[in-house]
Amino acid sequence: MRTAICPGSFDPVTNGHMDIIRRASVLFDKIIVLVSRNAEKYTLFTAEERCELIRRVTGDIPNIEIDLFDGLTVDYARSKNACALVKGLRAISDFEYEFQMAMTNKLLCPEIETIFLITSGDYMYLSSSIVKEMAQFDVDISQFVPPVICEDIKQRIMNKEK
Ligand code: ADP
Repeated sequence: MRTAICPGSFDPVTNGHMDIIRRASVLFDKIIVLVSRNAEKYTLFTAEERCELIRRVTGDIPNIEIDLFDGLTVDYARSKNACALVKGLRAISDFEYEFQMAMTNKLLCPEIETIFLITSGDYMYLSSSIVKEMAQFDVDISQFVPPVICEDIKQRIMNKEK
């Protein structure tokens, strides 16, 4: 049984994340999407809400679990006997940080590999921050996130602005 972890903030989940999650789910027997709490960072949705949004849009993926965690990703991976962390790489700007993280994680936990999936061309410039920014200006975000969660994002942004 080969398990991989797809870690991230997912605030909120985007089509770019969905692409990585789907592709990872084909490569491994089980994938766990691990939502980080980011207690020190401002987030639009709580960790529980971010998990719930992911759950709503991944119902058709049979070998997926969704969990949240506020410790080190490699500690979580070890506790689940996972063999890999799967990360997405967008532009070259992602590379430097991801390279450092992968090297550090390898040092902490040599038995776990970090695997990078290169983004699909359509999602190259897509990030959760861009989605939030566009939603603020009332742009149609259904091209960026699964349509069933568009309304949740818009509502949250509107309530925040009040
Ligand atoms: P963000 O950087 O948008 O806040 P996260 O921290 O939630 O994203 O990212 C979780 C994982 O998903 C990371 O490995 C990140 O590189 C990847 N990812 C995010 N957006 C995309 C995208 N558009 N294409 C490919 N991978 C992505």
